[in-house]
Parts: sequence; C-alpha cells; structure tokens
Amino acid sequence: MDDGKSEAAENDTQPAEKYCTGCERTLPRSAFNRQARARDGLQWRCRECEHAAGAERRKKNRDAELERNRRWRAANPERARAATNRQYAGNAVNRRASSQRWRERNPEKVKATFASWRETNADHDRARNRAYRLQNPETPRENARRRRARQAGNGEVEVFTRREIGDRDNWVCGICGLTIDPALSWPDPQSQSLDHIIALTRGGGHTRANCRIAHLVCNMRKGNRQTPAALACRIPVTPSPIWLGVFSYPEAE
Ligand SMILES: [Zn+2]
Ligand SMILES: [Zn+2]
Repeated sequence: MDDGKSEAAENDTQPAEKYCTGCERTLPRSAFNRQARARDGLQWRCRECEHAAGAERRKKNRDAELERNRRWRAANPERARAATNRQYAGNAVNRRASSQRWRERNPEKVKATFASWRETNADHDRARNRAYRLQNPETPRENARRRRARQAGNGEVEVFTRREIGDRDNWVCGICGLTIDPALSWPDPQSQSLDHIIALTRGGGHTRANCRIAHLVCNMRKGNRQTPAALACRIPVTPSPIWLGVFSYPEAE
C-alpha cells in the first residue's frame, strides 16, 4: 500500500471534526495528534486528554516506584541508611544550598522552630550562659566599661581586661603605691579596681595608657577629683570594713 497516497486520499474523505472518547467533546481534527496506524490518522483522544493521561501515567509510575523504594527500605534498614548517608555525603553542598533556599522561603517556620527549641531548651541555655559568665567574669564588666567609654565619646576604645592592667602594673595600686591582692573580690575595699587616670567624664579615653590598677577604696576616694594635688596624693589605706558603711559601692570599676 502506498501510505502517502492512501493517507492523503483518506484525509480528504475524513469529516472535519472528531469525537474524543476521553472528554466526550466533538473537536476539530487539529485538536488531535496524528497517528499513522489509525484508520482516520489521528489518536483516539484529543491532545488535552492524551496529555492528562500521560501525566496520570507518570504519577502512577512515580508512586509505584516510591512504594517499591519504601518497601525495600523497610526490609533493609541498614543498607537503606548506608545508601542515604552515601547520597548525602556526595550532596553536602547541594543540601546546604537547598536548605538555605527552604529557610528563605519559610521564615516563619524557621522562627517557630527556633522559638520552640529555645522553649524546650531554656534550662540548657540558662545553664550555658551561667557557666560562660562564671568562666569569663571580666567579660560583662568589660563590655559595660567599653559601652560607657563609647558613650563618653573620648576617642578610641581599646579592648583589654582589668586583669591585664593588674599584671602590667604588678598589682601595685597606682594611687597609694601599696600592693593589691588579686584574690580579693568586690566589694572588699582592698579589692582590685580599674582606675581611669583621667576620668571618662573628663574626656579621658578607655585606653591602656589612661588606665591603671588601684584599690577599690583608693579609686573611690579619688572619685573624679582631677586637681594635680588629687592626682598626686597617696592616700593611706586603712583596711577596714568601715568603708562598706561609708560608701555605696558601684557595680563596676
Ligand atoms: Zn478529549
Ligand atoms: Zn591603693
């Protein structure tokens, strides 16, 4: 049979429309894909129905594949885990990127996850913060000092600890010239304190050069008196708890 000739001849005799057995509509021939073997040269169903049927078939295949996979994983948990790990290891970068994209698309879910984590781990968080403060007693105090220094606006704010200044000054009080026991702690009048030689309130900077170690009591007696006499004076230290009643001790410095 001469296909070209007979097809052309047949097409000439075909009606202009065709009934689709899928959607049960009568549509123009152009709505159908061609199928050379069919008597009228067209598929049974219209293009739309063919497309839908294809999607349905692919979904069924995919579901069947997933189901097979699930069953295999249930029957071979060890091998399944190993396979997953292998796959993840090879895709670490992709996974990070895709999880990053997910987080960008779902900011509320991320926030909720963090909030619920914090809620269930509140004790853990608190304990960790407490442990950190115990191990780094200087840090919050230092942060507060630097904050005050920045607010005073006296130029550069250096980062250092009181302990560093004490070591530098060999634990000798810059005001009275007597030694300081670094083991004593606030509010013992003989405990260490950081003295700004020129007070922050008078334009002094929070710098190593403008700081010295001093007894708490000496520092407090000096206050922010800045007369040359006050700066030079060596105040005799009376190690007496009487100061506890005389002064109200500030929390820092
Ligand atoms: Zn149809
Ligand atoms: Zn002193």
